[in-house]
Amino acid sequence: MKKVIGRLLSAKVTVKSILLAILVIGLLSAATVYVAMRIPRDLPAALPKIARAFYVTELAYLRSGNGQSIDTDYSGGNVLTADNTNPDDELTWGLYSNSAWLTQLYRDVVPYYAYEKLTLEGRTPNMLAFFPFDNDDSFHILGQYSPWSDSIILNERFRYDPRYDDDRELLGTLIHEGIHAQGGSFLEGTSVEVESNTSAATLEIEAAMCQYGKKLACSAFWYSLHDMARNTLRSYATEFKFEGFYIFLNKLLWRDAAEWSWSDKSLRYWANHPDDLATIIYKYDRLPFETMVLPNLCYVAGLNTGFDFEDSSLGTYRLYMPFDDSQLMLGMYRPLVCWGFRLETSQAIDTDSGVNPSR
Ligand SMILES: [Zn+2]
Repeated sequence: MKKVIGRLLSAKVTVKSILLAILVIGLLSAATVYVAMRIPRDLPAALPKIARAFYVTELAYLRSGNGQSIDTDYSGGNVLTADNTNPDDELTWGLYSNSAWLTQLYRDVVPYYAYEKLTLEGRTPNMLAFFPFDNDDSFHILGQYSPWSDSIILNERFRYDPRYDDDRELLGTLIHEGIHAQGGSFLEGTSVEVESNTSAATLEIEAAMCQYGKKLACSAFWYSLHDMARNTLRSYATEFKFEGFYIFLNKLLWRDAAEWSWSDKSLRYWANHPDDLATIIYKYDRLPFETMVLPNLCYVAGLNTGFDFEDSSLGTYRLYMPFDDSQLMLGMYRPLVCWGFRLETSQAIDTDSGVNPSR
């Protein structure tokens, strides 16, 4: 009797186990089908681009070092005027400014525009100054070039706000606004064209200054490249709805704990302006990264400057800016960054009619 009950019990346990196994397999299959159905159709094709953006973000982050504090003279609202009777004029070489240090830094930058074939003759605007913004622009605009007054202003927060106190960011901003002041495809065209050209060119000027020996420009190059690749990743996160995972990665890998609350505050601000944020990231980061920087890093192409010049032997020719210094910056990592990268027809650099005709 005991034996019979024992057999019946073990048969019951076996049946239970089988039922349980069927249930688990069924649930797993249903979950797999559910997940597979929810994966956007375009995601598999975008995965290599997402992986490349992630790799460049991390590589550039590791090499960008730490920003140093900005230590400059600054006369606030007292402008060192371009007035011959003012002895401060000599400090700024006649530029309207409130920082002799800033004008000195620009004088260091401007010859590179010609040296790097961004233009033939570098130009200096009338005014170059730290300037306050009165509205929310203060928290997300680093600098501006106005062609009407021919002036470059840098956000005054660079002078007093610890969040902006980073010399890599300041140099990158100065180079960027200075490029607008050169004209060509960096000033004329749609905002998307102008800003994406300028972002790409900024990177190459930073690389050139680094290759020449200016240490600050080396970290500025990696800092700019990190920012561009990270925002490209962020743009994919929005497109394919993995923003939560992006924010987690961003905090884990690229932001220290002190920056978390600031970064959350910024997220809350942009949550109210999602389209504006998407446009900004597209024109300053994703578009230049994928259609200008990567093609120029991985191929010998050249960025269309929009400048045509006359030459007695060559006739009229268009100036294209090579990315030789950026390529050198990548060095041994270049094959990995460029691994599997192909120019897309819509993104191909059209050497007759300009960069990226798809826009
Ligand atoms: Zn700009």
